[in-house]
Amino acid sequence: MPRRPLPFFENVTILDAGAEGKAVARVNDLVVFVPFCVPGDVVDIQVISKRKSYCEGKAVKFHHYSELRVDPFCEHFGTCGGCRWQNLSYEQQLQYKQKQIDDHFTRIGKFSFPPLNPILHSPLTTGYRNKLEYTFSDRRWLNADDMALPAEERQSNGLGFHIPTLFDRVLDINHCYHQPEPSNAIRLAVRDFTLNRGWSYYNPRSHEGFMRNLLIRNAVAGDLMVIVVFAYDAPDEIKMLMTFLADTFPQITSLIYVINTKQNDVITDQEMLLWKGDPYITETMEAPVEGGKKLQFRIGPVSFYQTNPLQAYYLYKTAFDFAGFTGDELVYDLYCGTGTITNFVAPYVKKAVGVEYVPSAIDDAHTNSELNNINNTVYFAGDLAKVLNEEFVLQNGRPDVIITDPPRSGMHESVVKQILLIESQKVIYVSCNPATQARDIALMIEKYEVTAVQPVDMFPHTHHVENVALLTLRK
Ligand code: SAH
Repeated sequence: MPRRPLPFFENVTILDAGAEGKAVARVNDLVVFVPFCVPGDVVDIQVISKRKSYCEGKAVKFHHYSELRVDPFCEHFGTCGGCRWQNLSYEQQLQYKQKQIDDHFTRIGKFSFPPLNPILHSPLTTGYRNKLEYTFSDRRWLNADDMALPAEERQSNGLGFHIPTLFDRVLDINHCYHQPEPSNAIRLAVRDFTLNRGWSYYNPRSHEGFMRNLLIRNAVAGDLMVIVVFAYDAPDEIKMLMTFLADTFPQITSLIYVINTKQNDVITDQEMLLWKGDPYITETMEAPVEGGKKLQFRIGPVSFYQTNPLQAYYLYKTAFDFAGFTGDELVYDLYCGTGTITNFVAPYVKKAVGVEYVPSAIDDAHTNSELNNINNTVYFAGDLAKVLNEEFVLQNGRPDVIITDPPRSGMHESVVKQILLIESQKVIYVSCNPATQARDIALMIEKYEVTAVQPVDMFPHTHHVENVALLTLRK
């Protein structure tokens, strides 16, 4: 049977900036998601996939451009998956983020909550990231200009970001606004150096090619880590490139390479080969109270650290202020990662207990406590769904405050159940996904009241939003 053609909708007004970064329109009862549109645009939409209650489409003609539109500042906008909200002003982006949280709490959570505090602006809206990973590919994404060239003149190697949904295609990046310089300078220098010498770029299908990945991490105070991932050992070439990088960019404080012969790109299980400098960078953070001691965090090549470090301070400070510590509290920091929040609050409480399932993150957490001369922290490595039980509470004490900062999927139901049994006076829920946060809070709402909500913008020009909710035990 021939397939029915997918619908084409004319003159549709875009209504909202949706949760996953796609704009939302409504045609009769059907919800249509359309990327790269802005509320107020009037467009013709070609549907590209259809489900029962919604479909995905592409704007093929614009009849009217919304007044909310601004010109995207990045030349890669529209192809790169990175900053999809660049066509909205920063103020508008913040309003839609705030609205997203309100919507999720209302529709998914269905609980009552106080008016949201105004979302915290990010101190920087470009150059705010401290980490980027670039991929080398021998099948670079070709745009219309490239395609106009004769095949033999096209450069098929590229270094940049994966094209969304096409795992083997990489967009060659000329300039990215995400990370401060010399991030672009390093990437372009590595690209030129390797292209000029005819070194091969990796192909993720055939698993051939020498150059695989380039990671750049930086700390606010200036430390800079560069990690080059090669697909196989070629000592002469590796020496050439690493010497070139060390000479050209003396500001690199940690120069590392990895030989990843596996088929996947994961390097957390690979040996980090230090070429020059320290095997880590050090991040510093202000104390949550005036006159408090500044904190230092040591970040290894695979350690987790919040990617917007200036805004991370305000995120943690919100959690800290919500807790209103007096100094006597026992605190649990669930999903503690490298113990950043644990160490941030520890100097102002009796004891802080961090739990996290990545053992190397727990090693980092210990190191971070030592580095800051903090000795009232304890850490446990393990899956919270298993670790957090009655015995754990008997051994470590019943916390006065629980801070929880789970991944996007939210908390496991058994973790929520344990929190309900523990009955801490306050639960501070830090979330990078307000939809799962709303779902989890709904499970706690009989015992806990939502008493404050603070959205925090960690990722300007993307749809992502962080949110801190204060839950107070009902009397
Ligand atoms: N609070 C930290 C990290 C938050 S990211 C910070 O601000 O830096 C969430 C963390 O939860 C990650 O480190 C991840 O490894 C951890 N995690 C995810 N699932 C987990 C589970 N089931 N049990 C314990 N930790 C988990």
